[in-house]
Amino acid sequence: MRIKVLGSCSGTEPMPGRHHVSWILDTGNGIYWFDAGEGCSYNAHLWGIDILDIRSIFISHPHMDHVGGLPELLWTVRKLEWVKKQKKNYGYLELFTPSLTSFEGTLGMLKNSEGNFVVDFDFRVKKVETGLILDDGIVQVEAIDNMHMGILGLSKSYRIRHAGKTIVYSGDVKDISEMEEWLNEGCDLMFMETGHHSVKTVCDYIAAHPKVKRLWLIHHGREILYHTQESRELASSILGEMVHISDDGDELEL
Ligand SMILES: [Zn+2]
Ligand SMILES: [Zn+2]
Repeated sequence: MRIKVLGSCSGTEPMPGRHHVSWILDTGNGIYWFDAGEGCSYNAHLWGIDILDIRSIFISHPHMDHVGGLPELLWTVRKLEWVKKQKKNYGYLELFTPSLTSFEGTLGMLKNSEGNFVVDFDFRVKKVETGLILDDGIVQVEAIDNMHMGILGLSKSYRIRHAGKTIVYSGDVKDISEMEEWLNEGCDLMFMETGHHSVKTVCDYIAAHPKVKRLWLIHHGREILYHTQESRELASSILGEMVHISDDGDELEL
């Protein structure tokens, strides 16, 4: 399976070379898309990713740095069908979001754009609860609540299983310990946001959770954006080669 970072930045002002957060899991039998920061579909398309191959999109919470690129992504799916004269693979597209209110805004934009977002595939929108939210025979995805939004239910972290591997994606969290149970159980890759947490705090925490095999930092805040090299050195001094500060376009075969 291939993991690709489409955007590595937190919700700050535009940064050179970085877009707001988004990453994908490409199983070879469908793409699973996590968060949709601005420019995610632009990057994906120009990097050769077949956007018509998406099966499911997962939004962690409705902050703009996670959904700013969502209308454009959905618009691009429809546009590519027309441009390529090709129907969307699998005949459906599924969107999981903790905020249907936020999605209504997205849909409002799409329905007022050309074509009124009339699509020829089955477009399913689901409100994310907690527990197992998807098991389509290819991937299993679980969701838990975190307190990033200040109220329970509006912000999720995800755990993804595919082909014997496990990935944990923090989304934005109030505290890394909100994923304690999953981290104790272990994973092959953890994507952890550093927009609200220092590199040292995150790395020390993961050092105490040896079943986490690999840590990719994403959703960078100012510490990493302005002191990238020092942050890389600090992270490796604590965790060695298992830690990586991701950049837009980074790719990993798991
Ligand atoms: Zn964010
Ligand atoms: Zn946020």
